[in-house]
Amino acid sequence: MRIDWAALGEEAVDLLRRYLMVDTTNPPGNEAAGARFLAAVLERNGIASETVEAAPGRANLVARLAGDGSLPGIVLHHHIDVVYADRRYWTVDPFGGEVRDGYLYGRGAIDMKSTGIMHLAAVLALKRAGVPLKRDLVFLATADEEAGSVYGARFVADARRDWLAGAEYAISELGGIEVHAGYTAPLGHIVISEKTGLPLTLTARSEPGHGSMPWPDTAPHRLIRALNRLLAAERPLSVLPEVREYFSRLATVLPVHAGVGYGDLERSLTDPAFRTRFLTNRLYAAMVRTTFAVTMLKGSEKGNVIPPEASAGIDCRMLAGDDPQEIVTWIRRVIDDDQVEVTIEGEPKAPNLSPPDTELYKALADALRRRAPGTVVAPEILVAFTDNWVFRRCGLHGYGWSPFVMDEGEWHRVHGNDERLSLENIREGVRCYVDMLLAVAGA
Ligand SMILES: [Zn+2]
Repeated sequence: MRIDWAALGEEAVDLLRRYLMVDTTNPPGNEAAGARFLAAVLERNGIASETVEAAPGRANLVARLAGDGSLPGIVLHHHIDVVYADRRYWTVDPFGGEVRDGYLYGRGAIDMKSTGIMHLAAVLALKRAGVPLKRDLVFLATADEEAGSVYGARFVADARRDWLAGAEYAISELGGIEVHAGYTAPLGHIVISEKTGLPLTLTARSEPGHGSMPWPDTAPHRLIRALNRLLAAERPLSVLPEVREYFSRLATVLPVHAGVGYGDLERSLTDPAFRTRFLTNRLYAAMVRTTFAVTMLKGSEKGNVIPPEASAGIDCRMLAGDDPQEIVTWIRRVIDDDQVEVTIEGEPKAPNLSPPDTELYKALADALRRRAPGTVVAPEILVAFTDNWVFRRCGLHGYGWSPFVMDEGEWHRVHGNDERLSLENIREGVRCYVDMLLAVAGA
C-alpha cells in the first residue's frame, strides 16, 4: 500500500480550510450546506453518500467504505454544526479559513470540523489505496450537536438506525494529547463517558401579597431556603474506577509534589485536608460528584408584588451510575419542604460509559503513543456532553479521540475566540488517523 503522506496532509489542510468557510452556526445550523460540501468531495472520489434532512436545512450524511465483513464496523462521526462566534472578539474572520503563522483559524477548527476532515481524508486515502478492510468504516456527519442533537444524532438513532448496521464501535470528538508546561510527559486522553444533564426545576408556591407586608413563608422565601439547603448539602463523592485510573495516570506526569495523593484518589479523599484542596479545582470536583448549578431564577414581574410562585432552574450533571430518581428523592429529603416541588424537565437520560479495555481503546492508545512518544494515556470522563451518549445507547462502544497535540491555551479556544488548529496537527493527525484505522481494521 502506498500513500503519499505529504500530499494527503496538504489535501486535509485544504479540505478543512474550505469546510470551515461553510457557516454552520447553530442556531440555525444550516448543516445542509456542510453536507453538500462533504457529499461533493466524496462523490469526486467515487464514494456514494446519502443525505437526509431531519427538518429543512438540518442535514445528516452517511457514507460507507465496505470491509470484508469479518469484523464489525466502526462509525466515524462528527457534528457539522458549530457554536456562535462573536466577531468582535476574533482577530480573524471566524468563517474566513485564514492561515496565519502555521495555524488554520476558524469556528470549528477544533470543535469539531477538524475531526470530521480527519475522518473524511482517512476514508479517501484508504479508498484510493485500495486497502482491503476487515471492518466497514461508516463516515457519519450529523446536525445539531450543539443544541441537543434532536435533528442529528437522535434523529439518526431513531429514524436511520440502519446507518449504524453491523457496527460495534464509534469514534467522535475531543480526547487527544495535552502538553502542559507543568507536566513531565504528554498526557493522552481518550473519552469513555460524559457527564449527563438532568435539568431540574424547583418551584415554591404560596399565597401572593403586597411587598410592604412580607411573611416568612412567601414563595420566594421558601425557594431561597430550599436552595440554601440544597447547596449546603453534600452528595457523597463517587470515584469511578475509570476516574481513579485517570488520576493515577495523571500522577505519573505531574511533578512529584503536585501529584501527591492522586495515585489512590479514593483513599486520599478520606483525608479532609486533601479533600478540601482537591475539590477547590472545579473540573476535578465535577469528575467525582453529581453537580447542581442554579442557572435560572424566576419570581415576581413587579418589585412590590409578592408572587404566588417562585422557581429555580438547576443544571444537574450526573456521573455514570447515577440514577435520576434517586437524585430527585435525595433533593426532596435535603430541602425538607413539601411546598417546594422538584421536577425533572423532559425525559431523564441515564449516563453511559464504554470500557477502556476494548481492542479499539487499545489501538487508540497505541496511536497516541506513536503520535507523541512518551505519552501517558488515561481514560477520561468528560464533564460536558457529546453525541457519543446517543450512539452508546444504540449498542456501540463510543470513544472521544483526536490525533492532536495541544497545550492548554489551544483547548481554551473551544467555544471561545480565535479557535485554531496547527497545520502540523492537521498533517500529522491525518497520518495518525489512517495508521490507527489500518491497525484496527486493515486486513
Ligand atoms: Zn463538539
